[in-house]
Amino acid sequence: MDKSILEKIFVDNGFDSFRWINSKDIVISEWVRFKCMFGCSSYGKNASCPPSVPSVSECKDFISNYSDIVVFKTSQRFANPNDRAGWGKEIDLRLLHVEKKVFLAGYHKVFLLFMDVCQMCNACTGSRSNCNNPEKSRPCAESLGIDIFSTVRNCGFPIQVLKDHSEVMNRYSFLLIE
Ligand code: SF4
Repeated sequence: MDKSILEKIFVDNGFDSFRWINSKDIVISEWVRFKCMFGCSSYGKNASCPPSVPSVSECKDFISNYSDIVVFKTSQRFANPNDRAGWGKEIDLRLLHVEKKVFLAGYHKVFLLFMDVCQMCNACTGSRSNCNNPEKSRPCAESLGIDIFSTVRNCGFPIQVLKDHSEVMNRYSFLLIE
């Protein structure tokens, strides 16, 4: 794998804060799925979220298919928390472009995990088989059971529980490459 070519794609598309990790560095736990099931408003309503995704053990097996994973860090502070959704969608669209560039560079298995719940449509159908925009739809990392806090701390990135919307958010996306 020529990482310098891939890193140029990342930087050229505005993602200059990233780390390379191994699939073994990804922490996956059942407790993350329980947080989806009990407490998240997207559960059962977004077609890229549980229960429209494989089981946690299947997700773990899927991740193990990849030798290299890129963790992208993006940070933002919002005066109005309602602006977060538009920002998240814009980041995810740019990452989809990066995923396409990496694919065209010869890495046919490349797969993106969004920074946030899929927001490609104004209203999600909530059904995987009836997804309005399957080419652009991707799951977010937590929907696959990834413990983002443990995973990004293990690779030296900052993350903490935020107490109010005035604090800077550090958000993370993952690009799986082989
Ligand atoms: S592309 Fe649209 S319908 Fe499909 S998961 Fe995303 S928001 Fe839902």
